[in-house]
Amino acid sequence: MNKRPLYFDYAATTPVDERVIQAMVECLGFNANFGNPASSSHVFGQQARQTVERARGQVAELVGAQAEQIVWTSGATESNNLALKGVAQARGLPGGHIITSQIEHKATLDTALQLQEAGVAVTYLVPDGEGLITVEAVSEALREDTFLVSLMLVNNELGTLNDVPAIGERVREHGALFHVDAAQGAGKVAIDLARWPVDLMSFSAHKLYGPKGIGALYVGPRAQQKVLAQIHGGGHEGGLRSGTLATHQIAGMGKAFALAGASFTEEKTAIVALRQRLLEQLNTIAGVRLNGSATQRIPHTLSLTFGEGEFNSAVLSTGIAFSATSACNSANNAPSHVLLALGHDARSASRTIRLSLGRFTTEQDIDQAVQLIKTALASVPAFWAV
Ligand SMILES: *Cc1c(COP(=O)(O)O)cnc(C)c1O
Repeated sequence: MNKRPLYFDYAATTPVDERVIQAMVECLGFNANFGNPASSSHVFGQQARQTVERARGQVAELVGAQAEQIVWTSGATESNNLALKGVAQARGLPGGHIITSQIEHKATLDTALQLQEAGVAVTYLVPDGEGLITVEAVSEALREDTFLVSLMLVNNELGTLNDVPAIGERVREHGALFHVDAAQGAGKVAIDLARWPVDLMSFSAHKLYGPKGIGALYVGPRAQQKVLAQIHGGGHEGGLRSGTLATHQIAGMGKAFALAGASFTEEKTAIVALRQRLLEQLNTIAGVRLNGSATQRIPHTLSLTFGEGEFNSAVLSTGIAFSATSACNSANNAPSHVLLALGHDARSASRTIRLSLGRFTTEQDIDQAVQLIKTALASVPAFWAV
């Protein structure tokens, strides 16, 4: 049997941590904590409810929120939908204006497009050359009828980190609500919702060693009563999101967020060292360029464009599991909208790969990956390049 490829795609998803799996299994079988958290009349339900509320506290704690401000969803896609559509519908459709950016995740962009069709004006901010959305850009785009600004904390393709506290400051002065997609930021950036001027924040478990299919939306004090539910049926989660709570998924997300908090500093130091090792070795290849700010970023995610004469398609078949654009765009094979917004053309976008590191990346993985890439680059004369 073939050896499994080296995994360099943690930004697409992460394996579930064994300790998280354990917490999930404890919520499944007949001898386990399988009850319906809504069954308040017996001990099965009460115990499940305890597990759900403990996990809610664990998620809240990692991001400086109160437990009651966390609403469970099926993932960051649903959280973004709930934030954008929920706020727009509560305000009343059609009408009004929202601000987002060209380099958001499709979960935000496609939702913004839906709102546009429903009669909301939308501004898509252009990132600066570093892949960042500036306070100035947001300032200039704010209109009297702007009711929502939605931007990501960390970009999933570039790893760039927006100055969310500063942008939030400006949005708060204006009076609009501020939604932040933090799917790539949670556990990697010190988020403090008790202080940050942010009203809504989206999270996902599977980007942080938790299971797929579970996420959360933080709803802060200014957003109370200003979000309309998108899924109806039973009034769970304070009426914001109906559906029987998935105890095992929720317990898994809580455990994953607790582990991320416990190992925050240690893990960051390790990833910084691995990133350094990777870049030092890759820098010996002529013409490799890092996309996005070198300083305003998380160390985990690296978008690298190879030089015209340097790249050849053999790199794409090294057997390393990385993203050739981003997993979400790979599905339709179009050049990445993020790279295009950064000024790439289709050709230079096609010479770009995203390598993302995580909890289980080793120095040996890095060395082997660089070796495979170098061998691939050397394998075909450059003039055969795509
Ligand atoms: C992965 C991701 C999402 C979608 O999260 P799911 O939980 O998979 O729905 C949204 N935004 C960003 C920035 C992401 O990286």
